[in-house]
Amino acid sequence: MKVRFAPSPTGYIHAGNCRTALVNWLLARKNGGTFLLRLDDTDVERSEDKYVQALLRDWAWLGLDYDEYKKQSDRMDLYQAAVEKLKTEGRLYACYETPEELEYKRKLRLKQGLPPLYDREALHLTEEKKAQYEKEGRKPHWRFLLKDTPIIWDDIVRGPTHFEGSNLSDPILVRESGTFVYILASVVDDIDLKITHIIRGEDHVSNTAIQLQLIEALGADPKSFQFAHLALLAGEHGEALGKSLGSLGIQDLRDQGIIPMAICSLLGKIGTSDAIHPYTKMQDLIESFDLGHFGRATAKFSLTQLGQINKKILQEMSFEDIKKFSPVPEMTESFWTTVQHNIESLNDIKTWWETCHQKGDGHVAPEDRAFIQDALDLLPAGPWIENPWDGWINTLKDQTQRKGKSLFMPLRLALTGQEHGPELKVIFHLLGYDLVKDKLHQGLN
Ligand code: GLU
Repeated sequence: MKVRFAPSPTGYIHAGNCRTALVNWLLARKNGGTFLLRLDDTDVERSEDKYVQALLRDWAWLGLDYDEYKKQSDRMDLYQAAVEKLKTEGRLYACYETPEELEYKRKLRLKQGLPPLYDREALHLTEEKKAQYEKEGRKPHWRFLLKDTPIIWDDIVRGPTHFEGSNLSDPILVRESGTFVYILASVVDDIDLKITHIIRGEDHVSNTAIQLQLIEALGADPKSFQFAHLALLAGEHGEALGKSLGSLGIQDLRDQGIIPMAICSLLGKIGTSDAIHPYTKMQDLIESFDLGHFGRATAKFSLTQLGQINKKILQEMSFEDIKKFSPVPEMTESFWTTVQHNIESLNDIKTWWETCHQKGDGHVAPEDRAFIQDALDLLPAGPWIENPWDGWINTLKDQTQRKGKSLFMPLRLALTGQEHGPELKVIFHLLGYDLVKDKLHQGLN
């Protein structure tokens, strides 16, 4: 088995294409297959190195790898050879229409109630006419001549899928500028690099119909490929992914404090019949993966759900596993186990670290001033080896007659500045004498 993920480096990878990538990767890893990372960078104007660098960085951060790496821009000779072959066999023909002319024809056909297919007018151009266009400085673009035959394949996700060649427009394979279009380059590579499974979004279904004819025209066997077209991602209520969510990059999720396994746990499973489980180990996700479980219904993606999974995973992670993701490199194991159950995102680690290691921060309400002053007066002198909390809180309770929330909340607010958080007793000891004293004192001022 050999699969590929073939992003065009014309933007950052986002939830949608990250999911396609991950599904390919999981399938390969589950089945001992080969995973090829291929950059579809033939569109020189829109491809940029910064996107390639970002992709490689995001990929590694997600904990994913690849077995082979190719760039289409290194493989132009192969595409040129394929073009020559198609020309020789009469499957590629020169067209001279300008974009405006094509747009005009398209509108006209729509007005006449016809599907907006290319009318193949260029097939009837005489040699004189072509020569005249060339003399006027027009350069041809080249279209693939489709056969008017049925095109059928058994899609792993969609089941039997059927197109009629006559309902498809002859696609442009070579642009006027001489650059190769993705449809051609992709097929040449899939054949040459011996890909066995092509898994991509369902926006490529009609490309598959065309590509199956192209595979055959290039002398390969369409049966050597299996296709799976994943239903596209939608928002949590099934709505189209809006621009902000749809283009949400992996870097954005990272900035929000999401851990890679949360992204993988969700993106590896949405759109399947499996329950979404917060996997802390990639190996468990790989073992549970089954391409056959993907369905045709739109897959719903929500940041809320991602946040919930993130929280669950963080709460289960060992210190060893979390260490390399911590925004606080000097984080200690005792700190992690103290705050871990109050963490929703990696960014919270930083917030709690600062709370536990910096002065100030505390809030004291006017009605609690006397109480906090008592707490300060009764504070056992440090440094503390054993946690003096129990003795301190009991004395404070007896002396002030406070209990429950009215006892603990003012202390929590004074020590952490927040109403919720890890067990106060543990925070108290983690802070230590100097910081507790300082925070109570600062709160009063
Ligand atoms: N470069 C194409 C894309 O990003 C690849 C599609 C495919 O997997 O063939 O949409």
